[in-house]
Amino acid sequence: MRDLGMEVEWRLLEGHEAFFTVTKAMHNGLQGAEVPWTNEMRDLFFEVNEDNADALDEDYDFIIIHDPQPAGMLQVLQEKKGEQKGKWIWRCHIDLTARFEPVWEFLGPLISRYNAAIFTMEDFVPRDLDVPQLVLQTPTIDPLSMKNVSLEPEAVTEVIRTYGIDPLRPIALQVSRFDPWKDPTGVMDAYRIAKEEIAGLQLVMIASMAHDDPEGWHYLKVAEDHRAADPDIYLLSNLQDVGSLAVNAFQRAADVILQKSIREGFGLTVSEAMWKRKPVIGGNVGGIRLQVVDGETGYLVDTVEQAGARLVELFLEPDRAAAMGIAARARVRERFLTTRNLADFLDLFESLSA
Ligand code: UDP
Repeated sequence: MRDLGMEVEWRLLEGHEAFFTVTKAMHNGLQGAEVPWTNEMRDLFFEVNEDNADALDEDYDFIIIHDPQPAGMLQVLQEKKGEQKGKWIWRCHIDLTARFEPVWEFLGPLISRYNAAIFTMEDFVPRDLDVPQLVLQTPTIDPLSMKNVSLEPEAVTEVIRTYGIDPLRPIALQVSRFDPWKDPTGVMDAYRIAKEEIAGLQLVMIASMAHDDPEGWHYLKVAEDHRAADPDIYLLSNLQDVGSLAVNAFQRAADVILQKSIREGFGLTVSEAMWKRKPVIGGNVGGIRLQVVDGETGYLVDTVEQAGARLVELFLEPDRAAAMGIAARARVRERFLTTRNLADFLDLFESLSA
């Protein structure tokens, strides 16, 4: 947007651990878990939203609010100042198909105040949501970012060697927060099934902790226990400091990439992998279904056993895996690059200005 001459800012919500514990419960509830949802939690949510709304001192033409954490700022401002400046758009990044109603009953009315809401796919739009403009858009990846820019094979090898991984042996990879929806233990179980036939298989799991995800450390421990000291499973977290460039290198070094989510808003990691010409074995859920074309760019799976069997298949048929990788990259080029997202936003801004 800036390259086009627009004045744009990216602002981050400021919160603290207690708030992020509340919003992670909210996130889990929206994705289908029965979570506690108390008055104290609601109060804390509004307290932090109010502090952030107070800090919003600029006048913007459009404000795009991402995810539930800052979704209450608009209500706070409308009630405090009695008016709303600019057009407000809420961008939902999560899978709401199995939402826990008490959490949605809280969030829904906050979203109804917006001028527009963007969802990744039709399935995620709650029927009772009443907003003047509803838009379907997938997120996209930036091919020129450090995460996706092309790398020389030597650089890739050097990075993965730094972490002790053998570039000459087969590698399966999942890049995902340690979170039950990303099924890290299921990924290890699928690897174990595949390992019976693919000698020397290595599994790399990269999971830097997001600062707004207080559950990460707990699930790292769960994953560590499930790993059971298998020297061919590498769990890389903040402790190993794996940045965007290293993620890029791992995605290029891997033969097959997994994204075995149980719920998934979109799963940027899928497009990131596909862009690097990798076949992806993805959970047959949410936004992964928009990206992976089953049997053409990878496979959609419902169970650990299916994931294990598809891993074996892709390692035994490298030509087919390579052909899928080529189809995968073409699909991302057509649908999931930032240029498409830019055009979508310009259309939306235009229609909101009319
Ligand atoms: N990611 C990363 N390092 C990690 C884990 C994730 O850089 O250790 C990045 C990943 O490459 C992707 C994003 O974080 O760009 C995760 O987005 P996605 O939509 O896959 O899942 P989310 O975490 O938003 O549920």
